[in-house]
Amino acid sequence: MRAVRLPDGRDLPVLGLGTWKMGEDRARVADEVRVVQRALDLGITLLDTAEIYASGRSEQVVGEAIAGRRDQVFLVTKVAPSNASRRGTVRACEASLKRLGTEVIDLYLLHWIGGTPIGETIEAFETLKAEGKIRAWGVSNFDTDDLEAMPAGAQCAANQVLYNPRSRGIEHSLIPYCQAHAIPIMAYTPLGQSGQVLDNATIGEIARRHGATPAQVALAWSIRNPGVVTIPKTATLARVEENLGAAELTLTEADLADIDRAFPPPRSKRSLEMI
Ligand code: NDP
Repeated sequence: MRAVRLPDGRDLPVLGLGTWKMGEDRARVADEVRVVQRALDLGITLLDTAEIYASGRSEQVVGEAIAGRRDQVFLVTKVAPSNASRRGTVRACEASLKRLGTEVIDLYLLHWIGGTPIGETIEAFETLKAEGKIRAWGVSNFDTDDLEAMPAGAQCAANQVLYNPRSRGIEHSLIPYCQAHAIPIMAYTPLGQSGQVLDNATIGEIARRHGATPAQVALAWSIRNPGVVTIPKTATLARVEENLGAAELTLTEADLADIDRAFPPPRSKRSLEMI
């Protein structure tokens, strides 16, 4: 699979698996573990979770799924802003490591900006890195001015933000900024919400042209630009393979122009959308 180079030289695969809402319903946990394992079997190695998802139980689902095959995985999790103080970040990381059943997190993100000065969270991240508990750190839901406000020389390895055809404001300045500073973007909610992307007639027509599915078109669109990876979530076994198929789909100029007509790109700076 194509990959985006991280500042530290490691590769971030362009398509991973999100796990928001996994672990919420105990009756579904065994199926969710199987979905994550199926993703690994198919070669999807980038897994995204967060301490707040299902109050830690999403991390537990991931931990159960990767037991015995940790080496295959690029593991991403996030500290909540309410825990992002110097000591709180270290404590939160240690709790995540326990739930994930691992000794190291590949990429540890600040979930969104809260009340703690970013410099303090970064100091905690650097401590965790020095102790070998995380391999790199990054941020999520940061706009260009938030990135600019980080201390000079900060080793931010990624920015995870909302990105799908309905929410493409980041194309105006955040994507160019991150590309210029070699900060990979992780596109979250790439399939959109409430069916407004997948049920769109244009997306459906492009899918028909390629013998693909609307989800594959939306995902291929989200990773068409250099420096962007995507982390669709599914808890449905058959959709894991379907979504992986997007990594092989290349949209044509005509497809992209059609999507621009259906979902116009931003003409000016928009404030960062998040969910
Ligand atoms: P997605 O865009 O990934 O959409 C997930 C929804 O789409 C689920 O309802 C899923 O249903 C459905 N779906 C998945 N594949 C298909 C398919 N092939 N055809 C039709 N429907 C499909 O939304 P998320 O909000 O979950 O975002 C992805 C991930 O990004 C999250 O799981 C999380 O890891 C991360 N995230 C990060 C945020 C942040 O603030 N940093 C915020 C939001 C998300 P089903 O499961 O039943 O298959």
